[in-house]
Amino acid sequence: MAAYGERIYEGKAKILYKTSRGTLVHFFKDFATAFNAQKKQEFEGKGAANLKISSMIFEYLKRTGIRVHFLKLIDERSFESEALTMLPVEVVVRNILAGSLAKRLQEKEGLPLHPPLVEFYYKSDEKGDPLVSDDILIALYKQSPADLKTLKEMALKTNEALKKLFDRAGLILADFKLEFGKTASGEIILADEVSPDTCRLWDKVSGEKLDKDRFRFDLGDLMTGYRQVCARVEAALKEVA
Ligand code: ADP
Ligand code: UDP
Repeated sequence: MAAYGERIYEGKAKILYKTSRGTLVHFFKDFATAFNAQKKQEFEGKGAANLKISSMIFEYLKRTGIRVHFLKLIDERSFESEALTMLPVEVVVRNILAGSLAKRLQEKEGLPLHPPLVEFYYKSDEKGDPLVSDDILIALYKQSPADLKTLKEMALKTNEALKKLFDRAGLILADFKLEFGKTASGEIILADEVSPDTCRLWDKVSGEKLDKDRFRFDLGDLMTGYRQVCARVEAALKEVA
């Protein structure tokens, strides 16, 4: 793997390499983690599936006018991206009540959220990615109000594009997480990945969960869900090509 460049980071789902061109290579691992990595398991084919799904989605978002870090596929496990200075924020968009918010409010999963919610979580494995307000990000974590406004706008625009795509794929996009970074010139662009690891995706007809909740809550074979998402997104994109 030395051919990718200098290995600079290993996270829970990916390994990053810095290339001689100053770009990054993201190698997608076969591990799934949940509950801040307390639960962990290897699934053959997961890295390849998430890479393919993410790449297809980034190409699609690029066509809709959203600036993304994705440059090109390298091989069946990795893509090349622009190298960014990441903002320490996980941006969660919610169309339907689920996950941590349903738990926190003690309300039933599946209730619609109109308009969609945008939440910020401070990205910190040690602190368990705490939910934070705009004010906390500004006062404590020194983020700029203008950047937070841009994050919200980009997250909502991405939501509209993703909802359309997943709807054509017969999937409901309940919620998802995005990460953003800044280019050398200060432009904020969409980074990281968009996959069933980071999105809650439910079958439009049966309601079956096809995302990482299968692993989190032992709902069924993970790869059966991920392969379905991959095939359906691919078909949905062909329809409009
Ligand atoms: P984690 O760090 O949460 O365990 P991953 O295993 O997915 O997650 O690691 C990928 C890391 O790469 C994340 O920390 C993410 O913020 C970072 N990242 C994603 N895209 C870029 C980019 N374009 N430039 C720099 N860092 C990036
Ligand atoms: N999410 C993610 N990474 C995280 C936390 C959340 O990709 O570190 C995604 C998650 O898959 C879901 C959405 O963000 O699609 C909202 O997650 P939630 O706050 O409900 O937390 P969860 O209960 O999934 O940990």
